[in-house]
Amino acid sequence: MTTTSQTYGGRGYLVHLPEAVIDTLRGQAVSAGRRETGGILIGYYRNGEAIITEVTSPPPDSKSGWFRFERGTRGVKSYLEEKWAADPREFYLGEWHSHPTQQARPSSTDHRQMQQISNDPDIDCSQPILIVVAGQAKPLPEFSVGVYDGASDVPAVLKQQTDLAHRGSDYGS
Ligand SMILES: [Zn+2]
Repeated sequence: MTTTSQTYGGRGYLVHLPEAVIDTLRGQAVSAGRRETGGILIGYYRNGEAIITEVTSPPPDSKSGWFRFERGTRGVKSYLEEKWAADPREFYLGEWHSHPTQQARPSSTDHRQMQQISNDPDIDCSQPILIVVAGQAKPLPEFSVGVYDGASDVPAVLKQQTDLAHRGSDYGS
């Protein structure tokens, strides 16, 4: 069985998460220890799927603590301009952050921030994705994938992955 990627679906579009991206999320969450960490999701849409190709580490002006992560903005705009100019063209798809000592379920603050992003004309992403990674969960970090449409504080799609070892059979491949 090949499990090179995971696809999460529901209303709106599917989210395609390559195995390499999952590994990066895991690695960054674990290496940040007890502090939250995060960044942005970059990729593109194709045939009703959001393909996540890259997850960034925190911009240098980010602020983090045990129970908070405020993603900074330094360097983000110019990096996204580079991605937009590249071939194939890639762009902002959403946000990710870790919950070192909590479940991967998004908090009410997370929901609110994603709704704001969805409605922000400067960001220009009406259905942003949020991935939350539980950094110290054993044996492997658990994560959730949410797609927000800006109409409600809760995501239109929210999938939680609790057992990565069985993802192939749980989610198909
Ligand atoms: Zn959170």
